[in-house]
Amino acid sequence: MSQRRAIHVDPSELLCTKGCGFYGNAAWQGLCSKCWRDENQREKQKQIQEDWALAERLQREEEEAYAYRQQRTQPHSTPIKPLSKLEERKTKEKPSRVNSVTKLFTAKTPSKKDVSFDAHSSPSPSSSTGRHSSADSDITTKEFIDFLKPLKSGREIFKQCRAFTESMIYKRDIEVDEFSECVQDFYQNLSDRLLTQFKGSSEHVESVMDEVEKYIMIRLYKDVFCPETTDDEKKDLAIQKRIRSLHWVTIEMLCVPVDEEIPEVSDSVVKAITDVIEMDSKRVPKDKLACVTRCSKHIFNAIKVSTKEAASADDFLPTLIYIVLKANPPRLQSNIQYITRFCNPSRLMTGEDGYYFTNLCCAVAFIEKLDGPSLNLSPEEFELYMSGQASPHWPPPTAACSSATGSAALTQVNQSMDLLTGLGVRQERVLEKARQMESDLIDWTDEVEQKVQSVLDSLPAGTPELPVTTDSGTTPTAASSAIDSDNVENELLPPPLQPQVFAG
Ligand SMILES: [Zn+2]
Repeated sequence: MSQRRAIHVDPSELLCTKGCGFYGNAAWQGLCSKCWRDENQREKQKQIQEDWALAERLQREEEEAYAYRQQRTQPHSTPIKPLSKLEERKTKEKPSRVNSVTKLFTAKTPSKKDVSFDAHSSPSPSSSTGRHSSADSDITTKEFIDFLKPLKSGREIFKQCRAFTESMIYKRDIEVDEFSECVQDFYQNLSDRLLTQFKGSSEHVESVMDEVEKYIMIRLYKDVFCPETTDDEKKDLAIQKRIRSLHWVTIEMLCVPVDEEIPEVSDSVVKAITDVIEMDSKRVPKDKLACVTRCSKHIFNAIKVSTKEAASADDFLPTLIYIVLKANPPRLQSNIQYITRFCNPSRLMTGEDGYYFTNLCCAVAFIEKLDGPSLNLSPEEFELYMSGQASPHWPPPTAACSSATGSAALTQVNQSMDLLTGLGVRQERVLEKARQMESDLIDWTDEVEQKVQSVLDSLPAGTPELPVTTDSGTTPTAASSAIDSDNVENELLPPPLQPQVFAG
């Protein structure tokens, strides 16, 4: 390949900027999950203390005001009724408001005293979670219980997870980042405790945490995936549009070392595309992440078979970009955000899942800022292709028609181009009609204005009654006020005529 590879990322750029060795993420300003949390901890702590102080002060003030009002109303033996009712309502409201403030800061809720752990006596403990109790999450609950049963502390783990999930459902109105923080804190606390309990067997802890994540996130998914309070959806549409406008980017421009003429390679490419698209259909962050990993492995295979040697990281990223461009995965940004917010952080910070996910984030960032030079094109060429005025596929280079599949693809491209041209022509025609209509409308307005003007001009100066009286027999006043309300006609009324008309 003679072209210079423009898309390149140093492996160190994928790592946390604090130099701790974990993978970083753009969502955490280049930090890993751990450093990001550390960084924010103090800030958050301060915020929480301030919020508490504010809540306490408000409560104190309200109590003082209440006491003061009580003192003032006490001496008068006849308090005004509506006021006392208002007071009553206020005092009733007070505890609930303070309660909602408290709720914001405590992750734990009053859990049900009697948590039945036995699947037989309580087949569906999720029924109390209202609209979340789908058959699907009941199955998850049963599987979760079955998984925990053999564990000594299984009952306790289940109790905590259920209480936590229920408390989070009540909090669904809070900011998603805060929501994410609560979930991450829960993961952290639980895994810390499990680590002590299992005497440091991290493998064992991990397997429990996987099930915990699944149980919690299946329940919370609807409330926290692409929530309305964020601009996730806007970002989804933006990247989708961006990818669509880059449809003309070729394998050669990205210097992707993949030869799709080889059946095994094209098979791997198709599988990679399918996997990254499938990510959207999963609800558990870990399952979404697994799609990214599977996609990446197919990419590595495609490169390996094409180049007949092991793929390097430098080959991987451009190929991943190519796959993402071809797939245009649905709700891409929402999925990335969801994984970042709700996946068990340890999985994002290390291991192959973390590595591939970081690369995916990187690929999306590249796609957002892709320009001429990064595709070995001049800025002018890039602009022409982006605006659709030219296409690298069109006119078709005759030499490229050597193979049957190549020419079939080219025919398809040409057909699409023809279709687009046809659409362009039709759009032009519609625009032309619209312009014609607009000018007709202007002509018509002028004509009416002229007619009105000529009628007004023909009026003798001192006519007591306007001949504007309508067919329905409206009074002159109503008719003239109708004229008055119309701006165009009002402008046409000669100013000196007006007082005379109304005087009559
Ligand atoms: Zn770090």
